[in-house]
Amino acid sequence: MKFNTKTIHGGQIEEKGYGAVMPPIYQTSTYSQKSPGDHKGYEYSRTHNPTRSALEKSLASIEGGGFGLAFGSGLAAIDAVLKLLNPGDEIISTNDLYGGSYRLFTKIFEKYGLVFHFTEMDDLSKIESLVNNNTKMIWVETPTNPMMNIVDIKGLSNISKKFNLILAVDNTFATPFLQQPLLLGADIVMHSATKYLAGHSDVVLGALIVNDKELSEQLYFIQNASGAICGPMDSFLTLRGIKTLHVRMERHCENAEKIANYLKSNPEIESVYWPGFKTHPNHEIAKSQMNNYGAMISFTTKGNSLSKSLKIVESLKLFTLAESLGGVESLAGHPASMTHASIPKLEREKSGVVDSLVRLSVGIEDIEDLIEDLKQAIG
Ligand SMILES: *Cc1c(COP(=O)(O)O)cnc(C)c1O
Repeated sequence: MKFNTKTIHGGQIEEKGYGAVMPPIYQTSTYSQKSPGDHKGYEYSRTHNPTRSALEKSLASIEGGGFGLAFGSGLAAIDAVLKLLNPGDEIISTNDLYGGSYRLFTKIFEKYGLVFHFTEMDDLSKIESLVNNNTKMIWVETPTNPMMNIVDIKGLSNISKKFNLILAVDNTFATPFLQQPLLLGADIVMHSATKYLAGHSDVVLGALIVNDKELSEQLYFIQNASGAICGPMDSFLTLRGIKTLHVRMERHCENAEKIANYLKSNPEIESVYWPGFKTHPNHEIAKSQMNNYGAMISFTTKGNSLSKSLKIVESLKLFTLAESLGGVESLAGHPASMTHASIPKLEREKSGVVDSLVRLSVGIEDIEDLIEDLKQAIG
């Protein structure tokens, strides 16, 4: 089955009761048993739920993996991955990371004895020099948030295989439409399905996809034991979202390319961060591991002017000033005060998240309207 077909049919099981085309929302906590242990595969909804199972199969299918797991949020999914580790274990991670992931790593898991190294991942030899006997995992995002750096997944997977590490990739920005980390050698793919997978800004949900059976069993154990599962209604909404992922992503990417070029040509704008530019430092890697360049764009204003940037995000009418990304509607955000406020200013600026940085999540509206909106806001 090819990708577009998988988004619609991948992992879907026939509903036997009435022939419903969409998996029903099994809004139940428990399931009847004939005699103790004699049931139809479901006993309690923290452990399994048919609507969640349908979503998990779909997730596995679109990422080209063997096993999918769905959680109550992207962060709950990351939390489950970190629980694979033990005190003293070390993790190497990108320095340009979703703020909430950074907060989870440093404010929660450091307390339990995990050790994190945050680093640029441009030069892979730098990564090798951080590996020691305690290193267990590499955690990356690509494209990174919000600087749109691209990390070489295949290159990292060579390192992780050499040292027997787990390579986990947060694939939220790219989605499997653009990039499939498991096929590039990653061990775990993570999603905030809240974003492109669900795609309509109406659900918070997280996902993990793996190929290795033993790893999947460890994660299922954590999912059930810690209990950060998603509900049946949210599973249903995400499954519905996935069915149009490919058509939405095509339009997202098409609009983003035009907006990136428009911003680049505007004299009020200083830098535009989008991996589709030939001048982007990681363009060649992006080209080799992605099918297109995504719809997330960041930019700074001339003279790194905070007031100018704030005026822009406040003047936009079609782009809504809001956290999050990946929905059908265009959003604008100010990372330094919004998504990345939990990262200390010095740390933040080291990776390029300066005060004038604006991040756009380009939606699927008519491009003429979006450019018109940017024009009136930038002035
Ligand atoms: C939003 C986001 C998360 C966190 O996911 P939630 O669903 O909000 O918990 C993690 N990584 C990235 C890249 C994100 O954009």
